[in-house]
Amino acid sequence: MTRSSPAPQALRPRLPSPLQPVDDGPFARRGVRLVLKRDDLIHPALPGNKWRKLAPNLRAATEAGDRALLTFGGAYSNHLRATAAAGRLLGFDTIGVVRGDELAHAPLNWSLARCAADGMRLHFVDRATYRRKADPGVLAALRDRFGAFRLIPEGGSNSLAVQGCTELGRELRGHADAVAVACGTGGTLAGLAAGLGPGQRALGVPVLKGGSPHFLHETVADLQRAAFGGPRGDWTLAEGFDFGGYARRTPELDAFTEAFEARHGLPVERVYVAKLLFALTALVERGAFPSGSTVVAVVTGTG
Ligand SMILES: *Cc1c(COP(=O)(O)O)cnc(C)c1O
Repeated sequence: MTRSSPAPQALRPRLPSPLQPVDDGPFARRGVRLVLKRDDLIHPALPGNKWRKLAPNLRAATEAGDRALLTFGGAYSNHLRATAAAGRLLGFDTIGVVRGDELAHAPLNWSLARCAADGMRLHFVDRATYRRKADPGVLAALRDRFGAFRLIPEGGSNSLAVQGCTELGRELRGHADAVAVACGTGGTLAGLAAGLGPGQRALGVPVLKGGSPHFLHETVADLQRAAFGGPRGDWTLAEGFDFGGYARRTPELDAFTEAFEARHGLPVERVYVAKLLFALTALVERGAFPSGSTVVAVVTGTG
């Protein structure tokens, strides 16, 4: 049970991930330094927070002698692809429970085809069953069907994952006044905030439409309680940048993203990172960050 168990290291992560200062007009005009934390470069098949969240789970699976991993995701889930790739690289069987039984009869999209090529068994369930995926009855049926497995929740956000993301915060000590990250399940924000040093703050940008205004806030607080026993760090959510919900986009968001890509020659991941950069730019233009401060944007995925 040592921190240096071989499993995740066999994936050869590039850590700490590089910091890339970018000279961007809206930030420069306000005297704010923008720095990109290039977590997208950690691993080609497990980019960004997906490596940070899966690594401790893979280590635990290796130590427990587990043979199979089962997890959940939507039709284009980055987490499903990362889990499938980890299984191939480390020799675990993987089972992906996919939201949407109509997908069972359609040709696989590029993301699910990638999962299948990495050896993942895909199991399609209807949306009602998917919503009940944490119920004991649903899990028992999955165990009857697939045998023993280590369960990794949707988006990978369990306590081990949140603890894994504290390393992101620790890598940024002394490098930032504020650190911003796009949020899906909120696991990355929960860990990031816990790893930052005194005086540093974390800012989450939700990309999903929340059920209630405080839903994600509660989720992040719950994840911190489960992972650390209580609240950790200084974090807030910047609401109002979901553009209508998960994977939704508008002409304004697309124009912003294309202009950012053209200015910096950097492809921007559309579902999460584009909304993060849009939010930070809007906030800096509203004077949300003091002149002379450094804002780090975590690039969690590949464009
Ligand atoms: C999964 C993912 C996120 C969201 O991470 P959470 O921990 O679920 O909040 C952000 N960015 C990218 C690119 C992702 O793939």
